[in-house]
Amino acid sequence: MKQALQCRCPKCNKGKLYQSLFDLRLRTHCGECALNLENNDSADGPAVFLTFVLGALIVPIALWVDACFNWPLWLHAIIWGIVILGFTVGLLKPIKAYVFMLQYKHRQDQWDEK
Ligand SMILES: [Zn+2]
Repeated sequence: MKQALQCRCPKCNKGKLYQSLFDLRLRTHCGECALNLENNDSADGPAVFLTFVLGALIVPIALWVDACFNWPLWLHAIIWGIVILGFTVGLLKPIKAYVFMLQYKHRQDQWDEK
């Protein structure tokens, strides 16, 4: 998890996974150990994982807030829209790095040099 939060290479834990801070594209190779990062693609897995986790966490909170404070619908739309967008943008890179590391750990055959 710590390694995923740092968005580092799954093999050496030193090289950066992403091309820049605000870019979701992976580097082609690790700058430290030359691991070919193009061998694997997590596709939509991280986004789906994040959708399920955020939905399971935020919907009950929104329902609880509605029951307790009786906010108007427009306020729910603004507040929860900002919360969901913030969590999605903030967590997508670490979740993608986590899925990437799980694939590196459990599907080692896909990482062999081709
Ligand atoms: Zn590396």
